[in-house]
Amino acid sequence: YGTAPESASEVNAWLDRHDRTFGLFIGGAFTKPGKACFDSVNPANGEVLASLTEATAKDVDAAVKAASKAQKGWAALGGAGRARHLYALARLIQKHARLFAVLESLDNGKPIRESRDADIPLAARHFYHHAGWAQLVESEMQGYEPIGVAGQVIPWNFPFLMLAWKIAPALAMGNAVVLKPAEYTSLTALLFAEICVEAGLTEGVVNIVTGHGPVGAMIAEHKDVAKVAFTGSTRVGRILREQTAGTGKKLTLELGGKSPFIVFDDADMDSAIEGIVDAIWFNQGQVCCAGSRLLVQENIAETFHDRLRLRMQSLRVGDPLDKSIDIGCVVDPVQHKQITAMVDQGVAEGATAFRGEASLPENGCYYPPTLLTGIEAGDTLAQEEIFGPVLVSMNFRTPAEAVQLANNSRYGLAASVWTENINLALGVAPQIKAGVIWVNCTNQFDAAAGFGGYRESGFGREGGREGLYEYVKPSYLKSLKDAAPA
Ligand code: NAD
Repeated sequence: YGTAPESASEVNAWLDRHDRTFGLFIGGAFTKPGKACFDSVNPANGEVLASLTEATAKDVDAAVKAASKAQKGWAALGGAGRARHLYALARLIQKHARLFAVLESLDNGKPIRESRDADIPLAARHFYHHAGWAQLVESEMQGYEPIGVAGQVIPWNFPFLMLAWKIAPALAMGNAVVLKPAEYTSLTALLFAEICVEAGLTEGVVNIVTGHGPVGAMIAEHKDVAKVAFTGSTRVGRILREQTAGTGKKLTLELGGKSPFIVFDDADMDSAIEGIVDAIWFNQGQVCCAGSRLLVQENIAETFHDRLRLRMQSLRVGDPLDKSIDIGCVVDPVQHKQITAMVDQGVAEGATAFRGEASLPENGCYYPPTLLTGIEAGDTLAQEEIFGPVLVSMNFRTPAEAVQLANNSRYGLAASVWTENINLALGVAPQIKAGVIWVNCTNQFDAAAGFGGYRESGFGREGGREGLYEYVKPSYLKSLKDAAPA
């Protein structure tokens, strides 16, 4: 893995096999590259990895048609039949785990340790988990049927994991999909397309179309797409809600966040420091549920910040393929610019910035781990998502004030509570309006646990039993008929 020469050569061999130019994956095969193309760039050095096709409305229509055609046969396979395919996909992800992980880090800039130990294994686990559900669907979920064709649009921060979150439950429940990966990070989705062929998946059940935002809009608008599943910004989530309103399409939205990380004065400080490092610097802070708002009890705030600054000095920022680094690079120069502008604005509004690393690699989209103190609850940076390696910190005095500060947000995706007092933890946690609440831990994800938000963080759940119901509709007549005596 990582800097080992065979890792890069495996990725290069795969890209070269495709002449570093990709068409779309429709009806079980790659199309010829389109007339309009765009580059997928390695954010660590600016090198072009491959040229991708910008899908047209005609392409989207062909993909939806292929999905519609395949869906009925796929549903008719039954749960056990579909499970066989999902298990095959899961096993092939594991077989090609190194290729997936290195490709993901090259395309996205995330540390290889993370893609190797989190993104790719969690994606495989998602397919295994939903293969299990597919087997159970007839016995556990009677009276439901697949929705049909699901249109799925995903972001760039966890490119392959988000694909798994979307595709595995949809397929398990008997739907076919048309998925658009984010324009910055489409390569692992295209590798997955190849895996679908290797697994012998029914042609047309999975279709991957690449391109920018308008391609996502075309998928969501298509009349034969019955369900739209989106992960991305609240801005686009709002557009999709308007677009699908009145159409009868089912919609789930996983959007932004500004999750609180609450440290009480009796918390185990060493663990809480490691917790906040993971909460905000995992994936360069480009995590929808990142613990981006640190709330510290006032009587320990100075000590906590001093120790955190010390810890920040030892965080290593560098080449994503270097196994020893903690922080890689952000996904794209546009995001880098946006993070820089937001931090500048915070400082202009009176915040004090502490930056962890003096020297960064010269080229590439690197941003140092940053702590902003002197922030007030109403300040822009206390409210707006930065989506980068930047932590803002505020103090509180009482548990009630901690809850009030935590809920003072238009988002509600996740929260983390740190205390050695179980009564305090169990008293505070239910008062926080967030889809996930971690106690003395953070960033715990499992396919068996539903993930999703409150308020402007979106609605619907992915994973867990709840996530399955996002991909079915009730079919009472069918079940009544089935139950009636002959
Ligand atoms: P974005 O919303 O601009 O893009 C996400 C995806 O939507 C991309 O594939 C993009 O091409 C597509 N898209 C853009 N405009 C569209 C439109 N009009 N119709 C349909 N699709 C469209 O988000 P981004 O800036 O690329 O990603 C960062 C944001 O995503 C952050 O704000 C973050 O909070 C959010 N995010 C949320 C989660 C979550 O699970 N809640 C996960 C990752 C990212």
